[in-house]
Amino acid sequence: MEEVSCDICGIDKTKNIVSSDKFNIVQCQGCGLVYMNPRPDKRLLGEYYANYYSDLKGHYEEERLYKCRFKERLDAIKKYKNGGRLLDIGCGVGFFLQSAKERKWQVSGIELSSLSADIARSSGVDVFTGSIEDADLESGSFDVITMWHVIEHLQRPSGALKKIYRALKKGGVLALETPNMDYYFKFKADKLNDVLRREHLYNFSSRTLTRLLENSGFTVLNLEQKPSGTDLGGMLKKYGVKGYLVKHLPFLSVIREPLMRFRGLLGQNEVIVAYAKK
Ligand SMILES: [Zn+2]
Repeated sequence: MEEVSCDICGIDKTKNIVSSDKFNIVQCQGCGLVYMNPRPDKRLLGEYYANYYSDLKGHYEEERLYKCRFKERLDAIKKYKNGGRLLDIGCGVGFFLQSAKERKWQVSGIELSSLSADIARSSGVDVFTGSIEDADLESGSFDVITMWHVIEHLQRPSGALKKIYRALKKGGVLALETPNMDYYFKFKADKLNDVLRREHLYNFSSRTLTRLLENSGFTVLNLEQKPSGTDLGGMLKKYGVKGYLVKHLPFLSVIREPLMRFRGLLGQNEVIVAYAKK
């Protein structure tokens, strides 16, 4: 385990927010950033991720829902950039990159898990196996860089964002999504222990994420709190609907969008989506 100071303002004046036998979450008294401290060091994190195997069976069952989500993301990106080179950091088995490739983006990825990276590569995508910290990115070479649910896992988000800033072309766009801690602290305080995960080293709010992006040189184009787009399949399965039904029910992708809008009206905004420009 290691002790760290705030990644945004560098001070180490904090108050405890959640203490359990699993971890200790603190909030910086300077800027409000919520982070794990002390936290696993690099070696221990390496051990977690060696066995970090995303639920592929679940992914394939919910493929149509994921495709809806990717379409939404690519449509949103298109408002700012209409093509070119796209890098997905934490690309997993490459589902998002496949969708982007179908839309004529020139795609590449970075993935920590060698198992997932191999699967992504087998479908013809160029993938670097390792972390963003280890990757060697050429300056000014990408039009768009995406990070879906990655920033909360990084050891030093500020360092990674500066590296991403350098790797983008002038006017290039960073798109990212991360859990929305404003929502969880307000509405799920009794369930925080379930929501907070040992591999989430940071828990961002709109305010702290904006500040981090701006400190790294970015101009925020759009930052909004939204309902998570993929929980429909998980929700149905929790209520006993079998995976193969989730895969084949014809109306799922149809009810997804109105359901998300409804949940947004109820304020169930579990994620923050941000678009920022170099
Ligand atoms: Zn701070």
